[in-house]
Amino acid sequence: MRGIKMQQNGDMARERREMVEQLKLYGIRSPRVLDAFLTVRRHLFVDEGSRAFAYSDGAMPIGFGQTISQPYTVAYMTSLLVERSPSGKVLEIGTGSGYQAAILDALGYRVFTIERIAGLYEMAGRVLNALELPVQRRLGDGTLGWPEEAPFDGIIVTAAAPHEPRTLMNQLADGGVLVVPVGDMVSQQMTVIRCRGERFEHEQFHNFAFVPLCGREGWESNNDNE
Ligand code: SAM
Repeated sequence: MRGIKMQQNGDMARERREMVEQLKLYGIRSPRVLDAFLTVRRHLFVDEGSRAFAYSDGAMPIGFGQTISQPYTVAYMTSLLVERSPSGKVLEIGTGSGYQAAILDALGYRVFTIERIAGLYEMAGRVLNALELPVQRRLGDGTLGWPEEAPFDGIIVTAAAPHEPRTLMNQLADGGVLVVPVGDMVSQQMTVIRCRGERFEHEQFHNFAFVPLCGREGWESNNDNE
């Protein structure tokens, strides 16, 4: 597995182990998910000046007003996906730093990811390419999905959606799941939507605070720096 090579070459391995121990204390149980967090070197996805803090359990700025999500949040969403759709093709909306995409790759998924901010699209591309991860990337509005590659066994939205993103739901394979935080700008409820033929089943979990999902089926952006 690609990830094992990364782990053998790994630096900050002790910090990564401590992060994983903390994730266990917070209730992350899946051995597959915990292994992926041991494997992927989070410090490579933040700027050099922040690397010392890369394994503390917090979100960190990555520029353009965006963040790399807190490890617990990434592990929580990833566990929801892995428990319901353990393999196949996964689409991530909100590449950001590229860390979540690398975690999905370490889990053995075929990974597709979309970012709407060009500067982040390029930054994440540099890291993912340097690690030689076969992640397919696209610059654009992820609320439109990736119709040419649909259907997906899983879709993870790593930004706050104002409502259920219908276009993404329609790009799920039968049995596929969408993991998406839905709510207002302050707080969103983690929601899992599973496609069952013509129907969708819903499950709801804890509340989180994400940066907004902007785009045709998201919030309107008013940031001139993007
Ligand atoms: N998954 C990322 C990681 O591992 O670093 C963190 C994601 S950050 C919390 C949310 C990201 O979603 C930002 O990079 C933001 O630019 C992106 N985003 C927001 N709306 C989007 C859209 N419609 N399409 C694609 N990306 C979007």
